[in-house]
Amino acid sequence: MEVKSASSQAPGGVCSVSAEEIEKWMEAAMHMAKDALENLEVPVGCLMVYNNEIVGKGRNEVNQTKNATRHAEMVAIDQVLEWCHRRGTSPSQVFARTALYVTVEPCIMCAAALRLLKIPLVVYGCRNERFGGCGSVLNVASADLPHTGEPFQCIPGYRAEEAVEMLKIFYKQENPNAPKSKVRKKECQKS
Ligand SMILES: [Zn+2]
Repeated sequence: MEVKSASSQAPGGVCSVSAEEIEKWMEAAMHMAKDALENLEVPVGCLMVYNNEIVGKGRNEVNQTKNATRHAEMVAIDQVLEWCHRRGTSPSQVFARTALYVTVEPCIMCAAALRLLKIPLVVYGCRNERFGGCGSVLNVASADLPHTGEPFQCIPGYRAEEAVEMLKIFYKQENPNAPKSKVRKKECQKS
């Protein structure tokens, strides 16, 4: 079992991060999203960071796997479990001190999974107006829902415009007939 005390992490699963860390990890998450875009997947990328180490990362794999639940977060969660398994570390201890960095607000399904795993902090880029589980459609992140894990903190708005741009590129490819002039400009803003 690995229990380290780091300045960025307080006991009890509370997780706080600096602006520098956010910048660094969101840059990496953006790369994951770009990789998704290049592979004809909805461009969402994420990282899970524990004790300043990437313990899981993912991008959407829905089309590749033909599995609608293979969102970036789900891919990363599986990697964290593998990481814990390799080290003989308890996943619940790791998840309770892990921050998620993701380019788009987690959907309702993923937000529910993050709650169940008791991940304390989610930093995300743009809002997810269609499926968002951190306030846009439902607030799974902070709702008072008994027996569904723990609420988690969200820090929205990092590199939101870039995240939206990638989504727009993807959906234009999907629908070449979409009138360009009607693409919404400010789908997502800092909140
Ligand atoms: Zn999701």
